[in-house]
Order: sequence, then C-alpha cells, then structure tokens
Amino acid sequence: MSALAQIIDLKTADVNTAEADTQQELTDGFHLVIDALKLNGVTTIYGVPGIPITDLGRMAQAEGMRVISFRHEQNAGNAAAIAGFLTKKPGVCLTVSAPGFLNGLTALANATTNCFPMILISGSSEREIVDLQQGDYEEMDQLAIAKPLCKAAFRVLHAADIGIAVARAIRAAVSGRPGGVYLDLPAKLLSQVIAAETGARSLVKVIDAAPAQLPAPSAIKRALDLLTKAKRPLIVLGKGAAYAQADDAIRALVEQSGIPYVPMSMAKGLLPDTHPLSAGAARSTALKDSDVVLLIGARLNWLLSHGKGKTWGEPGSKKFIQIDIEPREMDSNVEIVAPVVGDIGSCVQALLDAMGGRWPTPPSEWIDALKARREANIAKMAPRLAKNSSPMDFHGALGALRTVIRERPDAILVNEGANTLDLARGIIDMYQPRKRLDVGTWGVMGIGMGFAVAAAVETGKPVLAVEGDSAFGFSGMEVETICRYKLPVCIVVFNNNGIYRGTDVNPTGGEDVATTVFVADSRYDKMIEAFGGVGYNVTTPDELSRAVNEAMDSGKPTLINAVIDPAAGTESGNIGSLNPQSVVKKKK
Ligand code: ADP
Ligand code: MG
Repeated sequence: MSALAQIIDLKTADVNTAEADTQQELTDGFHLVIDALKLNGVTTIYGVPGIPITDLGRMAQAEGMRVISFRHEQNAGNAAAIAGFLTKKPGVCLTVSAPGFLNGLTALANATTNCFPMILISGSSEREIVDLQQGDYEEMDQLAIAKPLCKAAFRVLHAADIGIAVARAIRAAVSGRPGGVYLDLPAKLLSQVIAAETGARSLVKVIDAAPAQLPAPSAIKRALDLLTKAKRPLIVLGKGAAYAQADDAIRALVEQSGIPYVPMSMAKGLLPDTHPLSAGAARSTALKDSDVVLLIGARLNWLLSHGKGKTWGEPGSKKFIQIDIEPREMDSNVEIVAPVVGDIGSCVQALLDAMGGRWPTPPSEWIDALKARREANIAKMAPRLAKNSSPMDFHGALGALRTVIRERPDAILVNEGANTLDLARGIIDMYQPRKRLDVGTWGVMGIGMGFAVAAAVETGKPVLAVEGDSAFGFSGMEVETICRYKLPVCIVVFNNNGIYRGTDVNPTGGEDVATTVFVADSRYDKMIEAFGGVGYNVTTPDELSRAVNEAMDSGKPTLINAVIDPAAGTESGNIGSLNPQSVVKKKK
C-alpha cells in the first residue's frame, strides 16, 4: 500500500458505498496536493502553519519535503518569491485563511511586479458560508481578492482536480513573463477522500513548463541593423536577464560585440562589475550619451526614468531595442524602435548566431569616454571607502563589506534600506550571477529576512544581509527562523538610530520623539543572542570586517549591530525627489 493512501473510516468519507464495501485504498486532498507538488519537482515549502493547513505542512515534511516555517506569512511569501527567482521554478508559500492569506498576498503581488514565479497556496473557509456572508471563521472571498494582484488565481473544489490545478498554477507562474499565482484550497477539499487510484491518475506532470519562445528572424535583423550602426551603443541588463540563466550567451554577446553594459541592481554580477566593458561606475554618462540602447530583461519603468528626461539626454537622441518575453512591454513608456520578443536565452543566441562573430568594433571615442568617466568616479570614491572612522559613515562601513564580497564572491548579498540600499548597490561589486537580491521593482522594505532564508535554503551558500535599521524591523523576528534552521546567514544592521537618519527632532518640543527616530543606541545584536545565534556590536569598519569574516567562516547565524553616525543619512536615499515635502508653513 502506498504511503499516501490510507484506509479510513468510510462512514465519514466522501466516497460512494460501492467503493466503501471493497475497503479499497484511499487518498485525500492533503495527500494529493503533496503528491502533485512532489511530482513536479517542488521540494521546499515556505509557510506559516495554522487552520486549515497545519496538517498539510506536517504531512509534506513527513513525505520528505523541506517545510520552512516562518513567524509571519509575508516573510514566507518573500522567501518563496526569491526562491522562484533563483531557481526558475515556482517558489511555494503556504498560509492559513483570511489574515494569513492577506499577509502572504503582499509578497505575491510583489513577486508578480518583479516577474518572479511563485505560488501562494492558502487554506480557506467554507464556500457555502463565505458566499452567503454568514460569518465563518476567518471568512473571506480570497479568490476574488487575489485575482487582480497576480497572474492567475484558481480555486479547487474537488480532490480529483488538484492535479490539474497544481499543473495550471505551475505553468501560469513560470511560462511567458513569470509571476505570482494564487491557489485557493478550501478546508473541506483537503479532507475530501477519493480512491487512491483515481487520485494517482488525476496527477499531472508538467512537461516543458516554460517553453522557449523564439524571436522572429526579422526582429533580429531589425535589431542588429540598428545596433551595429550605433556610434555610442549601450546594453542595459535587467533582472530578467539574471532570471533567464542565459549567463554564457549574455557574456558572449557583450564580449563579442564589445558594447559596454550597465547592470540594473539585481543583474549585477551577471558579468563581474570589474569587467572592462562594465559601465556601471559611469552609469549617468552611459545612459545620457548613448545613441542606441539594447535593453535585455529590463523595463523602462521608474528605475530607468521611464526612458526619458534628463537621465537620457536630449529628446530624440536615443533609439531603444528591447528584448523581453512580454510583447506588451514594448512601447510602454517610449517608442521601441526594434522590439525583440522572446525568451532572453533564445533572443541573445539569435543575435549571436546572426552575427557569426563578425561584430564591428564600437567607436573607440565612446569606449574611452566611458572608461575615463568610470576611472574618475572610482578614484573619487576610493578614499571615502577606506576611511576607518568611529562612528562609521555609510561609505566606510560599505568599503569594508565590499572587500568581504570581493573575497567571497559566491556569497549571496541581500540588501534593503534607504541609504544602506542606494550606497551598497553602487559600492559593493558583484562577481557572479544572481548573487545580489534586493528591494526590486517596488523598492519595497521588508524583503530582507525572507530573501535571506530562501537564499540559504535554495543555494546552500553563505548569505550576507545588509540591512538598514528600519528595513530590518519589517522582518526582524525571522532571526528566530534563521537560528531554528541553523542557516549560514550573517545580518549586518546599519544602525543610525532611525529612518534616513536618527537626528530629527519633534517640532513641538513634546515628549514623543520625531516620527523617523528609533530608540537611540539600540543593540540589535542582542536579538539574535536570544535565539542562540551570535551577536556583535561594532563601531569601526575594521571591527565590522573582522566580525563579518568570523561570522562567514563559522557559518553560524549572526547579527552584527553596526553603529553608523546618526547624522550620516540623507532623506529617502537616492530617491528623495519621490518624497514630496510641504512648502506651506502654517501660522501658529
Ligand atoms: P530591472 O528592475 O532589473 O530593470 P525588470 O523587472 O524591470 O528588471 O525587467 C525584467 C523584465 O524581464 C520583465 O519585463 C520580464 O518580462 C522580462 N523577463 C523575465 N524573464 C524573462 C525571460 N526568461 N526572457 C525574456 N524576458 C524575461
Ligand atoms: Mg536607519
């Protein structure tokens, strides 16, 4: 008898009496969900247990899956989302109904926005009661609420449909532009019983979940006509390019064409930031002065100033070629003169094949101009990074961490905050693909510990999470999770006593501190000690560097409280312009 089937009390079971008489092998919704996920290669579930999915998690663990329980669903959801980004398979998050579902939904929406494949599976209450709004335990029409926030949303009412539902969820998550999928599992479904054989036959193994999408030869020709005639060509690599795992082809494209490139933040390391063709340190000049820009898996959204304005130089000075799997992305903000629709691996390979290695060399004035700018910027920054002051400023602290990553290029860097994010993105060079995980398209806070957990679980590599003190607070309780699973995660909290900085004062002179200020001189390192992890309190870049190296050598869960000058930050980091400030002074 299969481990999944069981003989149960047939009087309570939802099977016909003819089957009951023969006492045949049975299965139920719980087992079918687990079987369907396992059949499709899902090995890990991130979630928070509770009604009605407690047993689902328990049984998944019993069936050999890794089930990572979090303290809050949003963090479990973020873990699933980044697992999807790292593996090209949907990350799975499991939550309870209503409030747990809503907590997970933030992560699902964020995954969809970032094009990360993820499946949020939530238990739900009785359909009959929910639909009549009769006030069930955790009553909520979860399917309707999830729909506008993800790529697809499905509810399963019959155990025999679980196989198809899981297959559809997987396909929807990873095919085309990846994104989030919601799967609604009412409590009643989980305990629904059917014949084991019927159940086994109902499972679907998804073949070729994300089929290659080849670009049209005419689109390739149009793109190459433009690119090869450009005087100041530029490639912009986005996180879609990192996700695509077409690393060798992308490297070949850059190196064979000799075209400089700028990586978006999560595409850093696709080629090492120290590569001679990297224009990362000359980003502003590269964007402004280029004449033809090839976007690979990067959208012209706010992170690229929508492809216009002073970031991009004179109006009309630019022609865009865009490689993306989503046809509707073309012309989203400005005209795309050469759209190349298809998966990045196939599109980049098609460009390489069509050229057959006969790329013209880009004009040397362009290459030299970017090189000069890059060297000047790096030279200007160097003394600030080497400063060993106490209290630290951001540059001094990040200079130390930059060396750590240079010496440990296979470590995964998780990064969130305002100043901590903006400055780390520029200062810390990355050397390998998919090693930098950060706040992504929304610039959202709270991804830190969820990403750190999944990065460690999925890759087995050491993780360095560089967190602003405010950003850390959104997911900080997961230090217990990190300790519980003994993950090799080193968290560095850049503690400047507040949001942006810790020096604001209450304008009324009242007893409450200013709205952006935290408890002064907090010791975040004590938090992890409470759960058996290792804490450090450091005040200089030298101390920081020693502590991080010790932590990463030990592989133990570690939290380093890095004391940063409370006056060091700027309002909203690099995006202060998005934070409107009142100019109206009210008369007292
Ligand atoms: P960044 O923020 O780094 O600029 P974006 O999230 O804006 O990156 O852009 C990623 C883009 O990559 C999305 O438009 C998405 O459709 C696209 N994309 C994701 N995976 C693939 C793939 N395998 N092939 C082609 N395009 C992809
Ligand atoms: Mg702060």
